[in-house]
Amino acid sequence: KKLLEVKNLYASVRDEDIKILKGVNLEIGQDELHAIMGPNGSGKSTLANVIMGNPRYKIDEGDIIFEGESIKDLTSDERAKKGIFMTFQNPYEIEGVKFNNFLLTSYRKIHGDDDSYKILNERIQSILEELVVSDNFLNRFLNVGFSGGEKKKGEILQARFLSPKLLILDEIDSGLDVDALRIVAAQINKIRKSGTSILIITHYKRILNYLDVDKVHVYTDGRIVRSGDFSLADEVEQKGYSTIVR
Ligand code: ADP
Ligand code: MG
Ligand code: MG
Repeated sequence: KKLLEVKNLYASVRDEDIKILKGVNLEIGQDELHAIMGPNGSGKSTLANVIMGNPRYKIDEGDIIFEGESIKDLTSDERAKKGIFMTFQNPYEIEGVKFNNFLLTSYRKIHGDDDSYKILNERIQSILEELVVSDNFLNRFLNVGFSGGEKKKGEILQARFLSPKLLILDEIDSGLDVDALRIVAAQINKIRKSGTSILIITHYKRILNYLDVDKVHVYTDGRIVRSGDFSLADEVEQKGYSTIVR
């Protein structure tokens, strides 16, 4: 069954004549993991942001269907409520907002307040133990003064805790050392097991080696130019993007 359908999607920067998405077509089924690989500046983060409903971008043509219904006119909050979550390539630092409070508030906005704070905090604690981070991680302001690796672990913590139907990971592996990469990959596999479909944007095959990949898409200049199985990731690594798209 299809979860996400991106249909002939064209999008630009709002109020500016900068066209970035140029006809993206993508279908992700229930329980699938897809990878998008593409060069810097090709519009991968923009695709993630447009699926999530970031108001900085405007859809010029095409549609985004989630669970059979168009979501292109919904706000990003409404999309989050429907079960879409994305992790940021460059997570924002938010002074004055404690990470723990941010997690709890986000959770309740999406899932309501049936679960007590006690239960939610226990759930957060158990994920935290698997992440191997400092004790005060959650008492600090969101991402403020976090190392690159800590920010990525913070993103994956949110993803696991919020348990979306569709998770978009934008370069979650960038800047991670080998140990952190293994830890983050293990979290992705757990998220997947819980029934979440995943779209992972990455430059490197490295993280995909730890995951069970259904499809790899090569993405250049605002659209998908080739799709294949995991072997396409090998080809990308060996030949580079410029050769592979010809
Ligand atoms: P990628 O994630 O593949 O590296 P991006 O989606 O971040 O690519 O960016 C694609 C292109 O669009 C880049 O040239 C970038 O500078 C431009 N771009 C993206 N967002 C904006 C924006 N809000 N304003 C102006 N230019 C943007
Ligand atoms: Mg980039
Ligand atoms: Mg990017």
